Amino acid sequence: MMEVRSLSVVYPNGVKAVEEATLTLSPGKILALVGESGSGKSTLLYACLGLLPRGSKISGKVFFDHLDFLSLPEEEQRQIRWKKTSLVLQGTMNAFTPVLTMKRQFVEAMEEHLNLKPTDAINRAGELLKEVGLDPKFLFRYPHEISGGQKQRCAIAMALCCNPDYLLADEPTTALDVITQAEIINLLKRIVRQRNMGMLIVTHDLALATSIADKISVMHQSRIVEIASSEEIVNRPKHPHTIDLIRSLSMMEEEH
Ligand code: ADP
Repeated sequence: MMEVRSLSVVYPNGVKAVEEATLTLSPGKILALVGESGSGKSTLLYACLGLLPRGSKISGKVFFDHLDFLSLPEEEQRQIRWKKTSLVLQGTMNAFTPVLTMKRQFVEAMEEHLNLKPTDAINRAGELLKEVGLDPKFLFRYPHEISGGQKQRCAIAMALCCNPDYLLADEPTTALDVITQAEIINLLKRIVRQRNMGMLIVTHDLALATSIADKISVMHQSRIVEIASSEEIVNRPKHPHTIDLIRSLSMMEEEH
């Protein structure tokens, strides 16, 4: 179980980006963090991983299976960031080095974090690519030789390389066309179920959230204002801001 308790974040410039956020995430489940731009979603996600700019003030607790993550020294946090939990970013932000083949990037990650020999790392990378629906031959390509959707599959494969229990994803399908977006969402759903992982996904897109998540947590002005099942959020929203979000969704549908 991943547990966030009363988490608050103040950036060095004094912005209170997250206030008293509390949520839990169980294995095999998907929780979507939804809200308009600037509501604090990404800050909450990065705070859970101890990845905030220097000088930020963070209070509260984050537990990964009872491990009090934020109280650990930086080096241990770094290890856990790969082994216990892993991060998938918006397609264009995944940090693949342009001058290295995918093979080199996978091998380097696995040598560093799993101590694998290069041949074992290559085999494992091939298996991971198959798991995300790509031919292992993609290992021989450079990032610019891969489409946006394929690159996002590679990023998901890379995030799985240490068999993490939790996947944290920040707008993982933004910048992709709608068909590719749906494919990536289905892929993430399948992986979470098959591996019994917990996934926290940040998205500004409520329709996307309802299509992927078991539960939705709505953020508004740095606070979580409602957490409920996707079905409840859509059919019986309680907080006025959630009601506004649902209304804007149906207005968009009417315009189509
Ligand atoms: P969201 O992900 O919902 O769009 P963010 O977490 O990115 O929201 O931002 C929440 C608030 O924190 C916003 O007011 C934003 O301007 C501010 N913010 C984000 N990153 C930083 C930063 N590095 N330094 C200072 N303020 C920041």
